[in-house]
Amino acid sequence: MPDIDLGKTDPNFMRELTKRPGGERISACLTCQTCVASCPITEVNGTFNPARIIRMTLYGLREEVLGGDFIWLCTSCYACQERCPQGVRITEFMTQLKNMAVEAGYIPSGVKAQLDLVTGQGRIYPIDDFDNKKRNKIDLPSLPTSCDVVEKIFPKEG
Ligand code: SF4
Ligand code: SF4
Repeated sequence: MPDIDLGKTDPNFMRELTKRPGGERISACLTCQTCVASCPITEVNGTFNPARIIRMTLYGLREEVLGGDFIWLCTSCYACQERCPQGVRITEFMTQLKNMAVEAGYIPSGVKAQLDLVTGQGRIYPIDDFDNKKRNKIDLPSLPTSCDVVEKIFPKEG
């Protein structure tokens, strides 16, 4: 990790997090690394480290955390949260980081594409006439290509 420029840290970042569900106990983290040892993502990608993300948040590294791709690697499996001896709600903390990243305008293009599909069509994978032709070929009924309740769930003005 590069040197930290304390002049660029933001103490409000941690305060904001601690007010959100899941962020309340991050300052209780002992850096014991139990979460790291439990994390299936760390096992395949050593650059992902939930304890380090907590530490970066405590240091007030807002831009580095919210603007980083790594927060999106968390699969919300809860293995870390189940085992944390300090009761840090790590999975929910990671979800709050993702929420804050979106609110601040940081959203990876793949996640944005999925968001647009869900809010536009109600699905992560769109269904079109081509898909329905393939379904019909094996005697499966066509599926609707749009979902009329999506606009009620995700009003355009919202
Ligand atoms: S398991 Fe809990 S106390 Fe240990 S490093 Fe992870 S968050 Fe911190
Ligand atoms: S919830 Fe996220 S950080 Fe925790 S173990 Fe699972 S993938 Fe890793």
